[in-house]
Amino acid sequence: MVDRLTPAARSALMGKVRGKNSGPELSVRRLLHRLGFRYRLHRRDLPGTPDIVFPSRRRAIFVHGCFWHRHEQCKKASLPKSNVPFWTEKFEVNVQRDRRNVAELRALGWAVLIVWQCETEREVELEAALREFLIGGDVSAERLPTLRPARAG
Ligand SMILES: [Zn+2]
Repeated sequence: MVDRLTPAARSALMGKVRGKNSGPELSVRRLLHRLGFRYRLHRRDLPGTPDIVFPSRRRAIFVHGCFWHRHEQCKKASLPKSNVPFWTEKFEVNVQRDRRNVAELRALGWAVLIVWQCETEREVELEAALREFLIGGDVSAERLPTLRPARAG
């Protein structure tokens, strides 16, 4: 089933096996810790079990793998070369679920930030975006085109 994957797809598949506490998520957590923010992890009582949660600020962060969650126009989100209908449907389910989770969180009064895997490699921009999201007044501000609070869909 997983034959003929692109390199990006293959590494994403390996990442999937690790599941939570992925490398990109750990990078974000390390950065937040260094910045002095306190957070909770994987709150199962919230829609989508956000990866990183700031209860008193009512802010939640998802760290999304670009492949599984389909980061638009990202080279890590290449389509596998075989079983295209299978993957397309699978990805669509993931994307819809992500949208629904963000919408539900927002309806509950939470601000949501999606950090994409590829963005965790840009530490300076990421730090600015995290600060903006966590202590900025306007959580819908689009400080960076690629690092912005998720839309409800
Ligand atoms: Zn990406």
